[in-house]
Amino acid sequence: MGKKCLKFVSISEALEELKNTLMMQSEVQKQKEIGLIIESFEEFEIRKDLLKAHPSDLIERHGLWIESDDNKKFYYGIELVEFFLDLLNSKPSEAIGKVYSKIEWVSANVAKHQKTGANGLLIKTEMEKFKCVQCGHCCLDLSDAYQTSVPDFDVIRWECENRYDILEWVDSFAGLNDIWVNPKTGESVNRCPWLRKLPKKDKYICKIHETKPKHCLNFPKSKRHALENGCKGFHTKYAFNNTALPES
Ligand code: SF4
Ligand code: SF4
Repeated sequence: MGKKCLKFVSISEALEELKNTLMMQSEVQKQKEIGLIIESFEEFEIRKDLLKAHPSDLIERHGLWIESDDNKKFYYGIELVEFFLDLLNSKPSEAIGKVYSKIEWVSANVAKHQKTGANGLLIKTEMEKFKCVQCGHCCLDLSDAYQTSVPDFDVIRWECENRYDILEWVDSFAGLNDIWVNPKTGESVNRCPWLRKLPKKDKYICKIHETKPKHCLNFPKSKRHALENGCKGFHTKYAFNNTALPES
């Protein structure tokens, strides 16, 4: 195994990463993970009924009834994540490090930035355990790899590189750059047009590897992202299990 991968993040960057990870979870999973952590703070009471009709559409959704001395409110999905992160932001850095470790399945400890001396977290990302084996799973089976929107900087880069072969598969409208849209039919694709299987091998390559979209370049973003999405290139003894999150 290679050298350990370490990264320093400021507290606000750590909170942003937690937000991204929690937003990707189902409402049930948000409720479960956030509920356990809030309970451990012993500041709020969480009521047992975890489903409530949402006022916008009257459909029952998962969330948490959170009760303090002077307030009682049911929090759904995004609101629950935002409430939780505001609460976490008010905690000491050590507590934020512990929560980061729990949610991201890694080890995070409070540290000072080498140059600025600002407080942050030093994280053992464990990304040294990742090496792409070109199985093609992330390109074939995860539709948000090839049916999504890309940020403007991807499009601007393709324009600078005169990659009109790529740009013709992008549908830019109302501030969104949807990919990949078949230029002949105007329909979203059901398979990435840049994915090629190597002859006589169970391996795949990306035809635009040198300039592929940022979200493809950054896959997997973290240990948890790799494990949750079934990336075969992340080597660990732990398999993803909703009921018992691995200890780092
Ligand atoms: S799923 Fe993981 S190992 Fe497989 S191609 Fe994607 S990044 Fe590589
Ligand atoms: S652009 Fe490349 S990396 Fe991204 S989904 Fe398509 S084949 Fe995979």
